[in-house]
Amino acid sequence: MAAAELHFLVVPLIAQGHIIPMVEVARLLAARGARATVVTTPVNAARNRAVVEAAQRDGLAVELAEVAFPGPEFGVPEGLENMDQLVDVHRDMYLSLQRAIWAMAAPLETYLQALPRRRRPDCLVADYCNPWTAPVCDRLRIARVVMHCPSAYFLLATHNLSKHGVYGVAGEMEPFEVPDFPVRAVVDTATFRRFFQWPGLEKEERDAVEAERIADGFVINTFRDIEGAFVDGYAAALGRNAWAVGPTCAAAGTDADTKASRGNLADADAGRILSWLDARPPASVLYISFGSISHLAAKQVIELARGIEASGRPFVWAIKEAKATTAAAAAVREWIDSEGYEERVKDRGLLVRGWAPQVSILSHPATGGFLTHCGWNAALEAITHGVPALTWPNFSDQFSSEQLLVDVLRVGVRSGVTVPSAFLPAEAEGVQVTSAGVEAAVAELMDGGVDGAARRVRARELAGKARAAVEEGGSSHADMTEMIRHVAEVARKKRQEREAQPKYLA
Ligand code: UDP
Repeated sequence: MAAAELHFLVVPLIAQGHIIPMVEVARLLAARGARATVVTTPVNAARNRAVVEAAQRDGLAVELAEVAFPGPEFGVPEGLENMDQLVDVHRDMYLSLQRAIWAMAAPLETYLQALPRRRRPDCLVADYCNPWTAPVCDRLRIARVVMHCPSAYFLLATHNLSKHGVYGVAGEMEPFEVPDFPVRAVVDTATFRRFFQWPGLEKEERDAVEAERIADGFVINTFRDIEGAFVDGYAAALGRNAWAVGPTCAAAGTDADTKASRGNLADADAGRILSWLDARPPASVLYISFGSISHLAAKQVIELARGIEASGRPFVWAIKEAKATTAAAAAVREWIDSEGYEERVKDRGLLVRGWAPQVSILSHPATGGFLTHCGWNAALEAITHGVPALTWPNFSDQFSSEQLLVDVLRVGVRSGVTVPSAFLPAEAEGVQVTSAGVEAAVAELMDGGVDGAARRVRARELAGKARAAVEEGGSSHADMTEMIRHVAEVARKKRQEREAQPKYLA
């Protein structure tokens, strides 16, 4: 079976940090001649349609399919279909949302059963966070590879910590050296937690571990020049094939339209931001974003705003708080207005109220630094565009991305955040970095001296390697070839099983 005969069904978790790289994987597969259909819920399909249509305009066989979201059956309001909607009164719905996600197995199976023979997929690329796809693939005899959206560093570290029984034994803030790890890494279990390590999600975690154990291999959004040892370590630890096919953002469409519409949510006119950047000297601007989900406490946003102002550097700030409906966001808005902040910084600061065209900003030559929450996509986007990072992790895998950027790759500077905000004492009011701390960290990152220059050189080198990895002859290109070859082999066997047993998806 050649790539051209294969049809992949890509099933991301309903969160932008997963949908974006998985749509990019669909693009990568289609660029190799396969067909790829991204399956998601109606709200997420609407939000991500523009980027799929851009792939189609580029002549790629990428499609979008919708399955109903069973949220209301679990008390999740109609229309709440993405992790970034878990704010305000919906904050406590995380467990219900997860239960509803698990219940997507039924509509997915119905969708698959109803497909005409020529549209049936050969393989599911299933998000690690969607292990409920495993029994469906098993019943219908469809190959399944797991896609991991965090770094291999995070996967191997949390795997080794679990294997050595550190969770539940070590105190949450107790420093612990990760066992059997390619580099020396000292962590604690407050900042290095597994994805489903959450009270009430014990069954979901067991499902995820089991679905991963029996998968036909893993796709990881990374590349071997930065994470080869961690990818190999993880593959060996689980005894499975692991293919490092990223950074997926390096293979994304290059036209400005595609970049602006990633996530289909752009709240700002990309053209206006880009012409604002055009008027700035090379590598002079700091871009600030905390991704799609993380929110800082109001007091912390204000300290950040003051510190950036005091730094005297030009900046573009994707400030979710300027748009969100939370009480903290309202307090931030009130402060911005009462201080006349925007007016005060207008000659060198651009506030983007909500979703920004991040890749367009990072790829602009005027952007010289990225204050980031260290979501793994943000980290890869910084690496791919050669922009040094000012690291400000919040939760999930973000502290591990900080370690990789700062300690291993040496293209980052720490802001000074040490714990997830839930671990701060109440009297801190969510503040971990004062305005003076912000000012000092920005000065260090954007510094024109020896250290800053060396960091920029390393960042540029990594950017070159990231691009080379996804091009023909590169390691990610080769891993993708190997993944397609392996899937073709597994899919052929599954097809034979289906033909022998009409009860399967024949
Ligand atoms: N993103 C964007 N504009 C924004 C915020 C985020 O385009 O204003 C994109 C960003 O480029 C990345 C994704 O959304 O591809 C967020 O994923 P990440 O892993 O960085 O963080 P998460 O949102 O999952 O915490």
